[in-house]
Amino acid sequence: MDDTSQPNPTGLRALRELFPVLEQTINGAPLAYLDNAATTQIAQPVLDAMRGFEHRDRANIHRGVHTLSQRATDAFERAREDLKRYVGAGPSHELVFTSGTTDALNMVALGLSIGGERPPVIEPGDQIIVSGIEHHANLVPWQQAARRSGATLSILQPDAQGRLDARDLARLLSPRTRVFAVTACANATGERPPFEEMLALAAEAGALTVLDAAQAVSHEVPAIDALACDFMAFSGHKMYGPMGTGVLVGRRAALERLVPLRFGGDMVQWVTQTGASFAELPARLEGGTPNVAGAVGLAAAAAFIDKVGRGEIDAHVRALRANAAAGLAAIEGVTVLSPEASASAIVSFVAQGAHPHDIGTLLDEQGVAVRTGHHCAQPLIDHLGLGPTTRASFALYNTHDEVERLLAGVARAMEVLR
Ligand code: PMP
Repeated sequence: MDDTSQPNPTGLRALRELFPVLEQTINGAPLAYLDNAATTQIAQPVLDAMRGFEHRDRANIHRGVHTLSQRATDAFERAREDLKRYVGAGPSHELVFTSGTTDALNMVALGLSIGGERPPVIEPGDQIIVSGIEHHANLVPWQQAARRSGATLSILQPDAQGRLDARDLARLLSPRTRVFAVTACANATGERPPFEEMLALAAEAGALTVLDAAQAVSHEVPAIDALACDFMAFSGHKMYGPMGTGVLVGRRAALERLVPLRFGGDMVQWVTQTGASFAELPARLEGGTPNVAGAVGLAAAAAFIDKVGRGEIDAHVRALRANAAAGLAAIEGVTVLSPEASASAIVSFVAQGAHPHDIGTLLDEQGVAVRTGHHCAQPLIDHLGLGPTTRASFALYNTHDEVERLLAGVARAMEVLR
């Protein structure tokens, strides 16, 4: 599989075979699936790993002496170790399984702002800083955290093109900054902020740092031990893995400051009729029976990405983005958001006189799947003053031919709609 991510037809064809869903026609045309920032398709090796678990090893984990329970426990813990390696977690890190990025970010925002066995980390008068280019999943939990704790929420404003500047962050940071949260790539525009520098600045100022890696983790995987990052979150379904799976990985000392939000089996040490004490990490934050097949699938997805090669995938999706952005910008009336963003797999655009919903519908009639709207980033879309957009986003199985079909489809939609 080594060179299958190269943009040559033979290699790509071989790789596409691992995604049977792509072999279908939509409205009489071959499916061109360009909605990968919302959800990528699942890779056959991931399905095989999950089916292997379900067929051979399925049992509840951590509390059985029988063989299947031990195998299931081993599979779950092996998946954790494999994923830690994938994100470059060191001995001072821990990884908690979640149902996705949203779940992970809620665990952090609420776990820091609600009191439990200890007073909350975020107190009245403290400051939380969130960037203005975030998905709602990395904004709304912080709005709630500020409301519940009495902290103020400051927004690190992007410029008119949706770019963030570390110097603006330096100006916002204060001795009361408890948290700084930022994305590794904006899902609505494809902008990649200088998050390494910003996380380091915030950490130097004494803040806990949060990185939303949902849009980066399938091609430009940030190595957490090289970052000043306390918490990093991502989802399985955006990296060729199963839906409803995800990860919160971070410094053990930071994770220990989170109050558990889900109480019940597996996360306790002892229980009496009137009280309980809680287990050590990671169990402490994983109450209840986890999605074991999902964890196995998520680790298989990481292994699949590494087998294809992160560098190759990154180069391929960037090239597709660059071609799409250049081609779209050349269509009269089309404006590409973040035209200079070169480090992402996402291109978002608006078209004068043509509503994204109509563009999306016309593209679907030709088998081209894109997403339209505000992409769960309403404040950013409002800030840019452009209204809803059409977004195409690429994965390792996409081809330059599909980009051409997108461009032809948009050009045709413009003729029909304007
Ligand atoms: N953050 C970003 C940057 C995203 O793109 C998404 C998904 N669109 C999320 C968070 C939320 O991920 P999930 O729905 O898997 O929880």
